[in-house]
Amino acid sequence: MTTNRSLLAQIFAPRCPKCGEGKLFRDSLSIVDACVSCGLVLKHHDAADGPTFFSLVVVGFLVIGCVAFVEMHYEPPLWVHAVIWIPFTIVACIVSLRVFKTIFITFEHRLALLKENDPNA
Ligand SMILES: [Zn+2]
Repeated sequence: MTTNRSLLAQIFAPRCPKCGEGKLFRDSLSIVDACVSCGLVLKHHDAADGPTFFSLVVVGFLVIGCVAFVEMHYEPPLWVHAVIWIPFTIVACIVSLRVFKTIFITFEHRLALLKENDPNA
């Protein structure tokens, strides 16, 4: 049994890549050990540093671009930059890490299914 959820639906509401019912995250960034609905063991899905790398690249370019834009157009004092961009960066990192972890685990699961069903493998 594999869910037919689109990747976009999976990103906005991360669920088990197999059944689409159980939650994927235990808390903000931790993956559950196993799906409560179908029992799929998720702790073996190791995305390693992939989500971190992509999150760093995306958030880094986004924050630096926004900081440069605000500085060039409004020239606020340094403390205004700190008040705006430090919390923004923290929230953007958490959100993007969740998105990339979801994408990596979903793709890992779908590729593992492809390998299982490939008669030439
Ligand atoms: Zn499941």
